[in-house]
Amino acid sequence: MVEYLDAARRAGDTLETAAVREGSGAWWPTGEKGSLTLRTNWCSGSSGAGTFLVRLWAATREERFIDLAEAAAAAIHRERWYSPLATCHGLPGDGQYLLDLADFTGQQRFRHWADDLAAIMMTRNTLRDGLMLLPDETSSDITVGYATGLSGCLAFLLRLGHGGPRWADLPFLCVGLRSHHANRSILIEGDLLPVHLNRSRSLAAAE
Ligand SMILES: [Zn+2]
Repeated sequence: MVEYLDAARRAGDTLETAAVREGSGAWWPTGEKGSLTLRTNWCSGSSGAGTFLVRLWAATREERFIDLAEAAAAAIHRERWYSPLATCHGLPGDGQYLLDLADFTGQQRFRHWADDLAAIMMTRNTLRDGLMLLPDETSSDITVGYATGLSGCLAFLLRLGHGGPRWADLPFLCVGLRSHHANRSILIEGDLLPVHLNRSRSLAAAE
């Protein structure tokens, strides 16, 4: 529907206006009145804004949207040592966005950046009863929630290792786009393709 695309384009306009650019990166303010805090995460900041912008670019092919989406990725990569391990507001969610960007654009540098985030996650591991685990959003406890804990970390690491889209994306996004992920050609046009198997496997592992 054209009117929905127009509305999405206006949302993109707003994000473009609100972005804070510094060097090659783009950050967004948290939105609270008077706050000057800038974030790079999914629930607030570059990862969430970029998640929308890369899809808006795929639908419109307007260069300004992919430029901003790539700047969001640069900010995420620059801030990577300061983010907790939470899909909602930390490295796993940021990494999911970098994998989205690699799939949408075919640029492997974003996959390498996702590798960098995973390496930082590994530095924060801890041993419990002989098992290597990752802390949750608090950095001091281990819980298993998707948005704030271990299952979200696993979902990112499984996708990083085995490919496929972000599990919440199917089947309505990426229409007509081919993924450039190694050994996989993802063309989503309403058909069930092998990528769904990856998704099911990620979900099964996360549950
Ligand atoms: Zn959050």
